[in-house]
Amino acid sequence: MEVQFLPGVGPKRASLLRTELGVSTVGDLLRTYPFRYIDRSSVQRISDIQPGNALVQVLAQVVSAELTGKGAKQRLSVLVRDSSGEMELVFFKGIKYTYDRLKPGSVFLFFGRPSVFGGKLNMVHPEIDNPPTEGAVNFSGVLTGVYNSTDRLRNGGVTGKVMNKLVAEAIDLAIGDVEETLPEYVLKEKGLVPLKYAIRNIHFPADQNALSRARYRLKWEELFLLQLSLLKQKYIRSRSENGIMMPKVGAAFNACFNALPYELTSAQKRVIKEIRGDLMSGHQMNRLLQGDVGSGKTMVAVLSALIAVGNGYQACIMAPTEVLARQHFANIKKYLEPTGVRCELLIGSTTKGERRPIHEGLQDGSVGIIIGTHALIEDDVVFHNLGLAIIDEQHRFGVEQRSKLWSKGATQAPPHVLVMTATPIPRTLAMTFYGDLDVSVIDEMPPGRKPVKTMLIGEGKRPQMYSFIRREIAAGRQVFIVYPLIFESEKLDYQNLEAGYEEIVRRFPDPEYKVAIVHGQQTSEVKRFNMDAFASGRADILVSTTVIEVGVDVPNASIMVIENAERFGLAQLHQLRGRVGRGSEKSYCVLMHGLKVSKESRKRLELMCATENGFDLAEEDMKMRGPGDLEGTQQSGLPISLNIASLAHDGPILSDARSYAEHLLSKDPTLERPEHASLASELRKDKYSIKDYSKIS
Ligand code: ADP
Ligand code: MG
Repeated sequence: MEVQFLPGVGPKRASLLRTELGVSTVGDLLRTYPFRYIDRSSVQRISDIQPGNALVQVLAQVVSAELTGKGAKQRLSVLVRDSSGEMELVFFKGIKYTYDRLKPGSVFLFFGRPSVFGGKLNMVHPEIDNPPTEGAVNFSGVLTGVYNSTDRLRNGGVTGKVMNKLVAEAIDLAIGDVEETLPEYVLKEKGLVPLKYAIRNIHFPADQNALSRARYRLKWEELFLLQLSLLKQKYIRSRSENGIMMPKVGAAFNACFNALPYELTSAQKRVIKEIRGDLMSGHQMNRLLQGDVGSGKTMVAVLSALIAVGNGYQACIMAPTEVLARQHFANIKKYLEPTGVRCELLIGSTTKGERRPIHEGLQDGSVGIIIGTHALIEDDVVFHNLGLAIIDEQHRFGVEQRSKLWSKGATQAPPHVLVMTATPIPRTLAMTFYGDLDVSVIDEMPPGRKPVKTMLIGEGKRPQMYSFIRREIAAGRQVFIVYPLIFESEKLDYQNLEAGYEEIVRRFPDPEYKVAIVHGQQTSEVKRFNMDAFASGRADILVSTTVIEVGVDVPNASIMVIENAERFGLAQLHQLRGRVGRGSEKSYCVLMHGLKVSKESRKRLELMCATENGFDLAEEDMKMRGPGDLEGTQQSGLPISLNIASLAHDGPILSDARSYAEHLLSKDPTLERPEHASLASELRKDKYSIKDYSKIS
């Protein structure tokens, strides 16, 4: 039923509700929940108010209202009083409307955060409500819902009070038609309240307890349906797509494993077991491997690739940059020595002459493992039988590129896919974004890694920082200095980088010091030359953009200086910091902040100083900024927009709903049973039909 059928809603309001709140039907309105409640039973006396963080509500009479200033500087200050005292209310916006409304002598409820200004108690932009009137039908409960609103809604007459009225009418009219979405037995097992009860009480709570139960039920339902939808896709895929069977571990794996210079961590062992299980399952593997920088993902990649080779298939490892591909190649070749497996490198700068034997080796199967960049997915690269594709740092590859890789698989079945990322994603998000992938986590560092001391300093301390760098260089260490280059094309960023480089060269002059510079606009030869100079120890300082972000391993580097650190996201800072602390020396990460740094940025940088755990950082970052802004995910955006649950705050509910969804699908994977009909029909709705961007195959 269209909202327009509600009394008081004409075409104009109906269109406002649609454009501003996305509400078209009465059903939509019932599912538009308050984001906050006013407790009308608790009104404070002005004289009892303590300024601070707590929100308060006062019932007070307007004494006087005064307009001061002009134009943009205009403000409205209103003096109000109750029987205990007086306070000032201040408004900078909506001045005219508020001035007209707050007539001296009239009484209102004011709700807001009290503070003290010039020794006097005041409240800036409190919410204003009419006082409760005896017997008012629509305000039956003690708690009154407050709905999202916009200026256009308010100007169109859809005030908070009107929203309350409309929702009350919608409930009267349509609550009888609301159909339960969750099966009866699920409600029982999980102790959830019925949907009708939940909807009534989320809008007009009978009391605090009823509200909590309504809210829990609606959050659980939302997260459950989301997980059900994701997991159902996964079940369908794992049943329908057969994968290459790799039944044995093979001689190559054993040869490498037995020659390892160290013992695998138990996390590495667990993950390799999980991967092995997938490879021998007969279903295509689609696994995301998360592990902090330095947690030892490369070894997992090598051993997985060797399982493929041991079963007669080829494996490829695809890295996002040439520098990283090259470094992988150098590392991995060493591990492969005892196996006799042929491994090649294929990147953009591989010459035509070098390419021919590689292409031939891939085609005739004599190359067992190929490491490279995007060059691997060019059309002229043909595999004999690609069985496993490993992608390092997945968020840099688009879906299209991944599917191109897939098409290069052995003909009878798609290759298994392992995506590795060092960008920690909080568990709750991983469950949502990668809900249709299997996720493995290396949550343990190899022994012997030294903690990195992280410091936040401002411009004033720059001279001290330079002396510190000099001391470290004198002791034989090397230093990274990184400049933000968020958009490779931005001129200004290059100017910063170049100015920075010149300053460093001035401070650290040749021949006493050697400074190398690497950035994205250099040719790959120049880049390689400079990287090599640093990696081999010929250069003391490497000035660079974030091209070094992923992978680069220079154990002798002990200081990472990050300029304008506030311009980086936490995940990126964490990645950069992971470049040091790889050797035996104590290492440092120096976060330089610019002159203007917001409170929020400073808080994030302080968090960097406080913890080295990437997952904790990601978790905190999500709480501070909300999941929408989280790095590594913003390209994709949230898969659905949640109405009431929050990925940042409802982790426990999400976990519970997810395991219940798994349990239910294990009994009825296609939701065919009659008692699951309501679930199947919910999943057909737009909200839960998730676009399949995260599917990597
Ligand atoms: P990631 O790719 O996860 O950032 P790497 O695979 O590059 O980490 O490993 C980081 C360093 O730790 C490498 O020098 C590697 O040789 C070493 N390493 C890996 N696994 C172990 C282990 N189990 N014990 C000791 N050192 C290890
Ligand atoms: Mg790595």
